[in-house]
Amino acid sequence: MATTKEQEAQPLPYPSYQSGPMQPQSAMPPASGPIPPTIPAPMSTAAQSTVCVQSTVIFGEFSTAMQCPHCQNTINTRISHQVGLLTWLVAGGICLFGGFLGCCLIPFCLDFCLDVVHSCPTCNHQLGVYQRLH
Ligand SMILES: [Zn+2]
Repeated sequence: MATTKEQEAQPLPYPSYQSGPMQPQSAMPPASGPIPPTIPAPMSTAAQSTVCVQSTVIFGEFSTAMQCPHCQNTINTRISHQVGLLTWLVAGGICLFGGFLGCCLIPFCLDFCLDVVHSCPTCNHQLGVYQRLH
């Protein structure tokens, strides 16, 4: 009777002690791994906020003096016009009011119906678009 109690009591503590230290040791290396990547995270968020500040340049209908984010030169933006949402709305409106066949093409030739695209004259990068309708 006594031997059976010892045999039953002995196997139980050993697996529990062996499995106890094994799990924390195996978990330690992965736990220490993710810690370094979290340190530079605030720096990346700060860099994103500075980018947002640069993108808050308000582009209007006319050329704007600004610093190009691509070539770092202080330039006056080169503007060009492209077909925008308002252009299509005006053209559609003319067609709805029964304009002549060619009248609906008039908005595509009028600057105040077209969006203004600002680009850098030095590096030719597009810097922003002034949209008549958002
Ligand atoms: Zn540039």
